[in-house]
Amino acid sequence: MNTFSNRVIKWHGKSGRKDLPWQIDKNPYKVWISEVMLQQTQVNTAMPYFNAFMERFPNIGILADSSIDDVLSYWSGLGYYARGRNIHKTACILKNDYSSSLPCSLIELESLPGIGRSTAGAIYSLGFNKSAPILDGNVKRVLSRHKRINGILKKTATINKLWKISEELLPSKNHEIYTQGIMDLGATVCTRSNPNCSLCPVEQDCLARIHDEATLLPNRGPSKKKKEKEVFWLIPKDENDNVYLEKREEKGIWGGLWSFIESDGEEELNKIFKIKFRSNKSSIKKYKEIEHSFSHYDLKAKVFIVSLKGKPTTKTNTESIWTNSKELQSIGTPKPIQKLITEMSQHG
Ligand code: SF4
Repeated sequence: MNTFSNRVIKWHGKSGRKDLPWQIDKNPYKVWISEVMLQQTQVNTAMPYFNAFMERFPNIGILADSSIDDVLSYWSGLGYYARGRNIHKTACILKNDYSSSLPCSLIELESLPGIGRSTAGAIYSLGFNKSAPILDGNVKRVLSRHKRINGILKKTATINKLWKISEELLPSKNHEIYTQGIMDLGATVCTRSNPNCSLCPVEQDCLARIHDEATLLPNRGPSKKKKEKEVFWLIPKDENDNVYLEKREEKGIWGGLWSFIESDGEEELNKIFKIKFRSNKSSIKKYKEIEHSFSHYDLKAKVFIVSLKGKPTTKTNTESIWTNSKELQSIGTPKPIQKLITEMSQHG
């Protein structure tokens, strides 16, 4: 029988994806940005972000010379903002230490912020056509099924086993096509809930298919109930419909992004308002409640609003701005915040 890799390479020639935006005039930079975007984002969602990102930051030098705010504004809505911050940090390192290029070395790639073993492998094979294993979500699924690996996916022993298999299956040439092929196989044929085994080039010796266990693998372990978190947000608004935002600390889920004043209680929110806006009377009013889902918890935000007269002055150690829906494009804000500001400007 033809080797696993040869079958995947041949299949890619006929059925693989060849016109994704990052595949057109491909280079290591485009591979890097697309791989990071695709770490937690679906291809269709990532495509418009990738195109806009490339138009604004066509090369590593321009990316490194841009402000982090500018970079995060192009990440707004994609989520997992640490990815955007790491891309900017890495671009600065590449500009200073690597003449604004990505190094053609797996070890050096892996040493850069935000580039783990699988992303390094993808850049090395797709960007430089060199031999390296990858283990993204699609590949984990294909290999777990093909070799019938039953261990819980989160466990280190299972991951180590999959890395070993990924290494063992590598071809001796056509590295780029093979990597793209196995990724595409997972994305388009060996899909999560509906694998189309009759179209699969490695169906013949796929152990999960033979044992009729394809949809049972990979083993994700028992599903945990998501935690819930409640927060209180305050939107101070001036007479010209500008709203007040503060920059969140670097760490945390929306680190470095512009967001509303946040606390864990209404009373606390009132106190913060009085201190920040040097006001004795409180006029904060309940506006609405919103919900937003993260991968690890569900957020419920109780949103309050306060209308301020004249030119409000503030006392705060945090970086802050007054902004409006038109100016939002130029700063990094999380999607629910963007949505609220846009909605308020429409309803006055
Ligand atoms: S035969 Fe089916 S389960 Fe096995 S790798 Fe192919 S699509 Fe996946």
